[in-house]
Amino acid sequence: MLVIMQPNATEEEIMRAAMFLESKGFEARISHGEIRTVVHAIGNIDDVDQRDFELLSGVSEVIRVSTNYKLAARIAQGSDTVIEVNGVKFGDKYTGLIAGPCAVESYNQMDATAQELSESNVKILRGGAFKPRTSPYSFQGLGEEGLKILRSVADNHSMAVTSEIMDVSQLDLFMKYVDILQIGARNMQNFNLLKEIGKIHKPAILKRGLAATFEEWLMSAEYIMAGGNGQVILCERGIRTFENYTRNTLDLSAIPVIKKLSHLPIIVDPSHGTGLRDKVEPMSRAAVAAGCDGLIIEVHYNPECAVCDGAQSLYPWQYDLLYKQIKQIAPIVGKEIV
Ligand code: PEP
Ligand code: MN
Repeated sequence: MLVIMQPNATEEEIMRAAMFLESKGFEARISHGEIRTVVHAIGNIDDVDQRDFELLSGVSEVIRVSTNYKLAARIAQGSDTVIEVNGVKFGDKYTGLIAGPCAVESYNQMDATAQELSESNVKILRGGAFKPRTSPYSFQGLGEEGLKILRSVADNHSMAVTSEIMDVSQLDLFMKYVDILQIGARNMQNFNLLKEIGKIHKPAILKRGLAATFEEWLMSAEYIMAGGNGQVILCERGIRTFENYTRNTLDLSAIPVIKKLSHLPIIVDPSHGTGLRDKVEPMSRAAVAAGCDGLIIEVHYNPECAVCDGAQSLYPWQYDLLYKQIKQIAPIVGKEIV
């Protein structure tokens, strides 16, 4: 249930509403929007008479939320969530960019890639250190050594980093080395992992599962938010369909759908979404034109030699060209690439 306060409600009225909710057995969470404040009542609303809340001073209206996701729902907040990392913003009118190789392979590979990307104004570097590979015999990532390389290269280039966490046991390592946690498609419903990430204060990219519906995806975001971490960035990365020409089917309709259902930022991964380098540029342009809040793109200084996902990794010069194009597209749809 949402208790929407009047725009001119005083702090005292807001606190009184929150305390009244708690006296009725709810957990009350206050969310201050630009225009109005919303007090979320978390708990069972079956036996509630909402008029009791509507009559409180300073309250504008009370809404019973029937969706299963409440904190992630658009209605839960007066404005879009904006997440800022190293000066890069995701959400509302901002489109943030993340680029880097699929996996951390060596210091030289990361440094050469980061050097090129810094010339294209990249401020958040990606690179997997723990890789969720289909085959157990494929390269599994460098582990902690990979996170150390990622951190040190990023520091040399004044960049922030994102990397995929695969298991709860890795959380301490990620708290030490990583600025944005990436939850991979295969772990979208690893509920223990989501609950633990809910307890920390770092942004998390939540990738859409290979066969997840929008509602299932938002419910996973809700797991993180219910723990107290509201910094969730949703990432469309393609879903499994009958088509096998592309690696996945990139579902760009996720952008307008999620924007209607949620206030959370939605970014797009055209690299895993298509699996083919020549499809990455047009789909990136389309995602920006559809109003996405960011892109995460695989780029390798020498894709032919990449240990994994070389075929879907852009050459740095391709990324630079794409960056220049999307910078022009974004303002047409009221967005800004910072
Ligand atoms: C990745 O980004 O490295 C990755 C493995 O992506 P996904 O979880 O979307 O497959
Ligand atoms: Mn990859």
